[in-house]
Amino acid sequence: MQTETHSKVTGDSPNGLALVEAEIARACKDARRERSSVTLIAVSKTFESDAISPVIASGQRVFGENRVQEAKAKWPGLISAHPGIELHLIGPLQSNKAKEAVALFDAIHSVDRPSICEALAKELAKQIVKQDRKPLLFVQLNTGEEPQKAGVIPREADAFISSCRDKYGLEISGLMCIPPVDEPPAAHFALTAKIAARNGLKLLSMGMSADFATAIQLGATHVRVGSAIFGHR
Ligand SMILES: *Cc1c(COP(=O)(O)O)cnc(C)c1O
Repeated sequence: MQTETHSKVTGDSPNGLALVEAEIARACKDARRERSSVTLIAVSKTFESDAISPVIASGQRVFGENRVQEAKAKWPGLISAHPGIELHLIGPLQSNKAKEAVALFDAIHSVDRPSICEALAKELAKQIVKQDRKPLLFVQLNTGEEPQKAGVIPREADAFISSCRDKYGLEISGLMCIPPVDEPPAAHFALTAKIAARNGLKLLSMGMSADFATAIQLGATHVRVGSAIFGHR
């Protein structure tokens, strides 16, 4: 019964979103999880509004972008035309963009160093006075300890999460990871889940087009899927 492969999910199909939804439903069933326990973030980076609109029309409401500037150029129009859009920043954040990021995004998945914590804490303090913009925050882990990659390495994770909370007063909701491309992802997902559990964090942002079913099996609450929905970049 379980002989279909995940490679059937490709964005070259006319309806990538429907295939991804079907695969998520199946992964949830296999893992005995409720479909509602997994949020699909449709990663629309590099795609223009005319590619994004049909996906919104199909019912998708949660989207991910990896650059603040690109998102600022594309999304305000789409957001005002379609109430209920939720936008997630999944790429690196520079501290001088913290203000714009807090204004536009409902979640930030790339908290990974003190300068970002400081900038976010400052912005959030202002925002709370003005209006209630309070994005969900995820700490990004570099589970493969890859020098070119952003994220906190596993042995520094507990101390970093504590400092986010105690030193900067940030409410951290979860962890995010991007496993090395040349390794099976399962061990990285499992490690991320373990670090989250021992720090009392409930949300896990893990799994992309190639491996979101594995991530769901290992507890992902947010999967970030781009090319399987939108096609190749
Ligand atoms: C681009 C990107 C994704 C989506 O990748 P796909 O392989 O296209 O699904 C997920 N997470 C992050 C952090 C990304 O930058």
